[in-house]
Amino acid sequence: MNDAAKCIDLLRQKARLTAMLAPSFPIVYEYPQIVTRLRVLGFQHVIEVTVGAKRTNEAVINFFKSNPGGRVIASPCAGFVRLVRKTYPHMEKYLGLKIDSPMVASARIAKTSYPDAQPVFIGPCLAKKLESSEDYPDLNIIVLTYRELDKIFEEFKIGDGPDQPASKFDLEEPATRMYPADGGLTNSSGLRELLKEDEIRIISGWKNIPAALDEFEKNPKIRFLDILFCDGGCISGPGIASKLSVEEKVKKIQEFQVRDAMR
Ligand code: SF4
Repeated sequence: MNDAAKCIDLLRQKARLTAMLAPSFPIVYEYPQIVTRLRVLGFQHVIEVTVGAKRTNEAVINFFKSNPGGRVIASPCAGFVRLVRKTYPHMEKYLGLKIDSPMVASARIAKTSYPDAQPVFIGPCLAKKLESSEDYPDLNIIVLTYRELDKIFEEFKIGDGPDQPASKFDLEEPATRMYPADGGLTNSSGLRELLKEDEIRIISGWKNIPAALDEFEKNPKIRFLDILFCDGGCISGPGIASKLSVEEKVKKIQEFQVRDAMR
């Protein structure tokens, strides 16, 4: 059974579920309506994956604080990690795989906060399905794309504006809301206060990966490679149905971040 069918089945059984919404959601959904729609669909809890991204950032900062001179390649991108394992296995030793990705960190937080509910990650990424099933089967995370969520809304006849009072996230973290744009980790973690500018490389887009890995391998000055498989970052993930340009998508996320800061 695929993840979408599994989720439909669990919703029909009225199982307890926690929705973990990836930070690219403002590209395709309005807030707070999306939280209300998820609750009407049957999710008991709705949290922002930015809470997990904050933990990921803290772990990256701790790595550099406790490893002076250490070097690492960021591993939150499931597509990139799979590419390295398959095509560049000699580079796997540099991946920061001991550092939980935002999805995994969010699932751990969700399980601590709501131990009776199964975590369901909702985001732009197909490769996250493999990260969940191959690398973290014990966490039992169901992974849906936004496209799949739209189909589930259709299946349960939940429209854009359900007749319910607006509802907010149960757990939220504004500081990491720019995570899905390239450089999101570096820019939201305070890493630039620890490392010099020429010790950091920020890359996105699969075409740029071979040169970035080659440079990291040959230039020991580079200590952190912040890298995402999709062009411009997760905002271009295949699970997003949007005709907006990369710039327009970034603007949508920025608007959500700014709007929240002004509340
Ligand atoms: S950059 Fe693309 S492949 Fe990587 S985690 Fe984001 S959506 Fe998935």
